[in-house]
Amino acid sequence: MRAAIFTGSPELSVEDVTPIAPGPADVVVRIGASGVCHSDVSASNGLLPLPPPCILGHEGAGVIEWVGAEVSRVKVGDHVIASFVPACGNCFFCLHGQTNLCAMSGEVMAAPRATRADGTTPNGFTGLGTFADQMTCHQASVVKIETELPDSQLALIGCGVTTGVGAALNTAQIVPGSTVAVIGCGGVGQAVLQGARIAGASRIFAIDPVEMKRKTAEAFGATDLIDPGEGDATAQVMALTGGIGVDYAFEVIGLPETITQAYTMARRGGTAVVVGMPKWDSQVTLPGFQLFYDEKKLLGCVYGSAQVRSDFQRFVSLVETGRLDLGSMVSAEIGLDDVNDAFRAMQAGEVIRSVITHT
Ligand SMILES: [Zn+2]
Ligand SMILES: [Zn+2]
Repeated sequence: MRAAIFTGSPELSVEDVTPIAPGPADVVVRIGASGVCHSDVSASNGLLPLPPPCILGHEGAGVIEWVGAEVSRVKVGDHVIASFVPACGNCFFCLHGQTNLCAMSGEVMAAPRATRADGTTPNGFTGLGTFADQMTCHQASVVKIETELPDSQLALIGCGVTTGVGAALNTAQIVPGSTVAVIGCGGVGQAVLQGARIAGASRIFAIDPVEMKRKTAEAFGATDLIDPGEGDATAQVMALTGGIGVDYAFEVIGLPETITQAYTMARRGGTAVVVGMPKWDSQVTLPGFQLFYDEKKLLGCVYGSAQVRSDFQRFVSLVETGRLDLGSMVSAEIGLDDVNDAFRAMQAGEVIRSVITHT
């Protein structure tokens, strides 16, 4: 099989590797498409500590082509979306309706999945490794879906869309008529914005320094476009809301400063949601008195608080009925060999999502 591997430097190595024989609870997936997500870039540049070698990619869709003897959830030929957090169904968190916190994550991440020419054995990022034409993973890491939608769109449900739409619908539970601000309008931010639209938000502020991303946000339903380069974003939101602030502010970058900004932009009694992934050792500073007196809620949000075994199909249905637009989120379809250029384009703010397809 062919795979894009993190070997310790920001430039991924695209090479032929030999798959390691799968275990009895594993499945082999023929990858149809894989989105290129910011977390892959973070893994390659050290922002997210990751021991090399590792097959990157954690946002994918494809078809099951082999199952182990103990596999009961899927069968050969099933169409699946990969879940970057497994949903084992048996751990403390899964049994408490929080499969997005499943305790099996570390275990699936540790399994070596291929052998390179130099004899080293990369694992798959988050237990997946979708930057490849084929992927071996635990059955808990895939969810069967029924749809005719193309894999180039379905792949996005594996990370960015579920994270963003889930943040709006599951974590924040936006009620109709609300005001919403989204700080950072990359792939996940655009999904938050679409989630807010689906939830019936009356006003959606899209905040991003890149004009292309603000324009895309407008097409996805943003009512107010804010360029933080033209003055403090909180001050701009306050001016546009009569000094009140917004009901919900989403931070979709992962920086301490913008997390504080989301908190200050939420109205008294409002909610700030941290969707972006901060650096592992970062610290966030909040105004202490306001934390008490303004009675704001600050919510963490991993994987859109999603229960993937039901939410993946729920989001597929929103796409099929035209309520969620994934086609417009795919900026470019590329080959596996172009993955490093996709990393560059993402960091340059040129794309919402590049998607690797295998046709
Ligand atoms: Zn991701
Ligand atoms: Zn679990």
